[in-house]
This record gives sequence, C-alpha cells and structure tokens, in this order.
Amino acid sequence: MAKLLPKEETDRQNEFIERVFEINAAYEKYAFVDTYGCQQNESDSEVIRGMLTQMGYAMTDDEKSADVIIINSCAVREHAEHRVLGNIGALVHLKRSKPDMIIGVCGCMVQQKHMAEKIKASFHHVDMVFGVHALYRLPEILYRAITEGRRIFEVTESEGAIAESLPVLRKSVMKSWVPVMYGCNNFCSYCIVPYVRGRERSREPGAIVSEIEGLVKNGCRDVTLLGQNVNSYGKDLNNDYDFSRLLSDINAVPGEFTIRFMTSHPKDASKKLFDTMAECKKVARHIHLPFQSGSNRILRAMNRSYTIEHYINLIEYARSVIPGISVTSDIIVGFPGETEEDFSGTLNTVKTVKFNQLFTFIYSKRSGTPAAEMPDNEPREVKLERFNRLLALQDEVSREINFLPPGTEIRVLVESEQNTKFGNLAARTQGNRPVHFFGNTSLVGCFVSLKVTDSSKWAMTGELTNG
Ligand code: SAH
Ligand code: SF4
Repeated sequence: MAKLLPKEETDRQNEFIERVFEINAAYEKYAFVDTYGCQQNESDSEVIRGMLTQMGYAMTDDEKSADVIIINSCAVREHAEHRVLGNIGALVHLKRSKPDMIIGVCGCMVQQKHMAEKIKASFHHVDMVFGVHALYRLPEILYRAITEGRRIFEVTESEGAIAESLPVLRKSVMKSWVPVMYGCNNFCSYCIVPYVRGRERSREPGAIVSEIEGLVKNGCRDVTLLGQNVNSYGKDLNNDYDFSRLLSDINAVPGEFTIRFMTSHPKDASKKLFDTMAECKKVARHIHLPFQSGSNRILRAMNRSYTIEHYINLIEYARSVIPGISVTSDIIVGFPGETEEDFSGTLNTVKTVKFNQLFTFIYSKRSGTPAAEMPDNEPREVKLERFNRLLALQDEVSREINFLPPGTEIRVLVESEQNTKFGNLAARTQGNRPVHFFGNTSLVGCFVSLKVTDSSKWAMTGELTNG
C-alpha cells in the first residue's frame, strides 16, 4: 500500500486555502510560477498553480504584475543552479518597488541545506523557502508569509507520504504529465536527485488509472508517466503489481491516446517491459534509456549496475519485438577519471546503437555525491572537445537513422497551430519527432495520417493523406 498523506493534513491545508482566498477576495491577485529542470518539476509546478488558483490567484507570465512569484528550482547541474540564483537575484529591484509582493523558492535546489542557508543569508528579498517534501504545505506557508510578515523556511529532510488529492492546473490537458512514483533509490555516484527527492514511493495503480481515465475524458491525447526510474514502479507497494502491469492497465483505458513514460533505467528495463510495450498498442514506439557512458569502468564508478554489453543487448531485443522503435538516451561526458579510451567506448556505443536523439551533458560536480570526491584532473577544454566530437558524431547518425523516404505514412497527434514556411500546424510522431504540415486548424487535438514530404536530422514535414 502506498503511504498516503492523512486526511486531517489535507483538510488543514484546505483551510489555509480558504483563508488566503478570503484575504484575496476583494482584489485581483496574480501569481507567476517559474519552473527550471525536468518534467517532474513541470508537474510539481502544475500542482503549485492548482493550489494558487484555489487561493484566488490568476496566473500570469509577467513577473512585474505578480503578487506572488514562485521559483521552482533545479539542482541537477551547476549551470541550472546558477541560472536560478541569477534570476532570484534579479528580483531584488522588483521587490523594492513592490514590497508586498511575496517571493518563494522551492524545488530541488533549496532541498539542499547549504542552498537554503545561502538564500536565507544572501537573498533577503525571498520570503518563503520550501523544499520538495513541503510542497503540499504551500497554502499554510503562504498564509503565514502574508499574515506574519516574516520569512518562512520549511525544508524537511524526510520525504513523508504521497499527497493524492492536490489540485492540478495543467498547462495542457491534451498532453498531460502524470507522476507514477516519486524519488529514487539508485544513487548514481554523480547524481543529486536521490538526496533531494528521497526514496522511491509509488502511487497506487487505481489512483493513476482513474486520473488518466478522467484526463482522457477531458481531451487528453498524450500522457507521459513520470518517475526517476519508472521500471522500479510498484516495488515498494509489496504486491506483484509492476510497471508492465501498470502499462497494460492504462492501455485498457478507452479512447485514442498515446502513453509515454520516462525515465527507464537499463538495470531494470526488462524483456518483459519491451514485450508489454509491443502488446500495448497505445504505448508509444519510443524508449528513452540513458546509458551515460560506453565504458564499463566508468559505468562501475557511476554505480550504474549494468555493462554496456547488457545495454546493447537490451536495445537489440527492443528493436526485435518493436520494429521501428525510436531510441533516445542521456550521456555524461567528462565523468571524473574518464580517459580518451573510456570516451571512445561512448563514441562506439553511439555508432553501434544509432540513437534517434541524444541528450548530452558535461559532468557537473554536485557536492555531497560520491563522484564529487573522485579525482577529476581532465582540463575543461579536453571535456569540451570530447563533447563536441560526440555532438558531431550524433549529427551524422541522426541524418542517417531519422531519414524517412518521402511518401512514408505516419500517424501523428496535431498539437498546435504554428505558422512556419513548412506548415501552419505542428504535430508529433510516436517517437516524439516534430512534424509540420498545412491543414485546417480544427485538427488540433486530433490524430491524423500524413505522408512524409521531407525528413531531416530530427524535424519533418508532411502532407495530409486523403484517407
Ligand atoms: N532519473 C533519470 C534522469 C535523471 S537527471 C535517469 O536516471 O535517467 C537527467 C540526466 O541528467 C541524467 O540522465 C544524466 O545524464 C544527467 N545528469 C545527472 N546528474 C548529472 C551531473 N552531476 N552532471 C552532468 N549530468 C548529470
Ligand atoms: Fe539520478 Fe541515477 Fe536516480 Fe536517475 S537513476 S535520478 S541518474 S540517481
């Protein structure tokens, strides 16, 4: 059974929602939520917007007109933290001209003690700091910040329970994010996520399936199941229910829609997962499976628990049971101690597997992780040079693997109007590739069949088929 937040606590937060709503009732109030980082953070921001809406705030994208600004921060790489800190710093003038404005910082960056303390000491214009595990308590924290006129810091270390009934204001219902689990138990040696997001906690399958039933009834055509390591889904529920069963149960929800999921870990992505994907027609023909490095020595130092041979076998199996499956991956270049020989293992893997798309990162030292203590003597220029070589190789691979002969038929979801010289409509394939074509704007939100007219490295153009 999932450990759920007690009803009394949800009721208590609902009372604070009402109190803030009453304070706001006489005025028009606006809130701006600024999100950094991964899809899980985007999804958390949808919950923040849901709570703020219930408290009487209208959403704005203009920080100058906002009465409340919430910055939902990321900690995965140093670059993300610098951006967040720079943007928090830049708000000091706005706060001076609008002293009643409330500024809050939440998310992974402030879940780290040293960062929460840095904000406390150096950013006096920030009124609220709340960590990942205090998210559901935003109503209480905001109420106190408004009424007590002092700064509120709420960063608890324990991950606590799952809050099921929080309001969600989605950016898009047509393309919805649905978290299936929170946290991570893997402790890859470079990664801060397990420290800030806590241990793995799965939602109850019934809660997930009924949320998706509701979404599909309301126009959802593409759902992405979120978790740091979705293949571990259900392990903490202590029954036999696993991620493959979850996929099958969601596949049985009536209606035409696509099921995506991220992220999978090669140590747990099993043949059973690919067999289930092959059976479930609504599951996108796409797997995002980060391999991080093509050197077994580096994979061991990263604590990834698989070999590159195992990884390559998995992809071969996936391609044998799901012909045409799109494969994408994450890679870290310049992990401490990575030699030219290790790096050539990564290049060889890219040549062998032929990914449809890669997300590549230069290693960023995260304090508190084991990799931060490892000797890291390679100069930045060497890492950068490797990084550029990797991009150039993937460029060649992309051209080859993503080419589709003109006339190939594809089925896509029309996502939005987007006027370009290639078309007025933007759609995506099951493999998540963007396609532009001309057509009636009433097609937005519908699945249509297209004939490919041109396919470059990643994006494509097409035309509607008559069928
Ligand atoms: N849970 C997911 C994603 C985690 S973060 C997974 O395991 O795949 C997304 C990506 O950021 C990772 O796959 C990794 O490639 C990259 N990343 C994480 N920590 C990093 C670090 N310290 N430096 C550089 N890249 C990092
Ligand atoms: Fe980080 Fe590894 Fe967990 Fe992904 S699986 S969140 S990379 S520790």
